[in-house]
Amino acid sequence: MNILLVGPPGAGKGTQAKILEDRYHAKHIATGDMLRAEVAGGTPIGLEAKAVMDAGQLVSDDILIRMLGARLAQPDCAHGMILDGFPRTVPQAEALNDLLAASHRHLDAVIVLEVDEEALVARISGRFACAQCGAGYHRSFHPTAKDGVCDKCGSHEFTQRPDDNPAVVRRRLAAYREQTAPILPFYTARGLVHTLDGMAPMEQVTAEIEKILRQVGVAAPA
Ligand code: AMP
Repeated sequence: MNILLVGPPGAGKGTQAKILEDRYHAKHIATGDMLRAEVAGGTPIGLEAKAVMDAGQLVSDDILIRMLGARLAQPDCAHGMILDGFPRTVPQAEALNDLLAASHRHLDAVIVLEVDEEALVARISGRFACAQCGAGYHRSFHPTAKDGVCDKCGSHEFTQRPDDNPAVVRRRLAAYREQTAPILPFYTARGLVHTLDGMAPMEQVTAEIEKILRQVGVAAPA
């Protein structure tokens, strides 16, 4: 199974991708996570990307296309992948098409999570994670059971992404509207687009995605 999850930041792409990764044995590939690893590692790509990411803008197509090309060539993608955060521009969508065709793969579906922008600002601005184990939380919707203590590992240290603050979130939403939404006609023309209400409860969104996957002939492995 090869699918794209498309939607503005905070639409729930990462959450859904993690659930689907387990159920369908397909690799979750999140270009945002890959870039954050480059930043954390202080690599040349990370050094170039950091300021752009912190400002809520898009990193250059050139970097992203090279990074994704290398990732898709790795053996753990052979059984399928769930792309989260790529493509984000029309040139990236075209490059993905070429990369897939060159390795005799194709997309089964492009799943678009539609959301209300104002609700998203609240959703994203409240996100934080455990600094030790990475468990994700939200101040209003998914707080830790005990204030200041990670439910999973007991750590007292938490982090928030530098780009998860209201001003930057608004810029990331504008980047989605202006640069990423234009990829949708590209996929609509290929009959691949399925749109869902991303504001619905998480389990309902998962069920809807699974329904779409059945419709396009992708079955979850037993
Ligand atoms: P995300 O974790 O998907 O919200 O991505 C965080 C940030 O990484 C974005 O705001 C962009 O600056 C950058 N980024 C991630 N994926 C891409 C992409 N496909 N193209 C350009 N920039 C990206």
